[in-house]
Order: sequence, then C-alpha cells, then structure tokens
Amino acid sequence: MATDRSELTSYEYRQIRARILAASDVCIVCGHGAADAVDHIHPVSKGGARKDPDNLGPIHGVAGCPVCLRKCNSEKSDRPLAEVVQLRTSVDWFAGP
Ligand SMILES: [Zn+2]
Ligand SMILES: [Zn+2]
Repeated sequence: MATDRSELTSYEYRQIRARILAASDVCIVCGHGAADAVDHIHPVSKGGARKDPDNLGPIHGVAGCPVCLRKCNSEKSDRPLAEVVQLRTSVDWFAGP
C-alpha cells in the first residue's frame, strides 16, 4: 500500500490546481474539457517531480468526464500517463483499426 497522499498539503494542492486549471481545463487522459482536478503526468512514485507544474496536468476528478463519462483520475491512478492513454486507445471503438 502506497502512502503517497502526503505528497502535497491540501493548501499547496489547491494553489497548484488553481494555477493549472486557469491555464487549461483539457483533461490529460481523455482530451475533453471541464477537468476539475490535477494529477502528475509522470507519477511521483516513479520519479516524477512533485510540485513541478510541468509535471502536472488537468484531469477529471471524482465526478468524471461530462463528455465521455470516464473516471479519468481513478483510471490513471499512479500509472504513467502514456500507459493510460494507450490503454484508452486500445478500447476506443470510435477510432477503428
Ligand atoms: Zn478526462
Ligand atoms: Zn472525456
């Protein structure tokens, strides 16, 4: 069981989240707008920078995406973004072969 929840205090998280979401609300996982949370693009547990805004992107939080209804943040968990996006395209029936 990872106990990485202490990686950011809630105050720091809110500050960083506000800054990221002010720049863009396009989800890093599904590519739709209206993201309401941020997550590490490269997981901290895998060596990603904790507080580097370049390593943080908008993501759909607990409410999920209003467009595709994915729970992007829980889908991503602490996996690298590339892995999650690849996972998505492998089950994307709109994309075709
Ligand atoms: Zn999303
Ligand atoms: Zn979406």
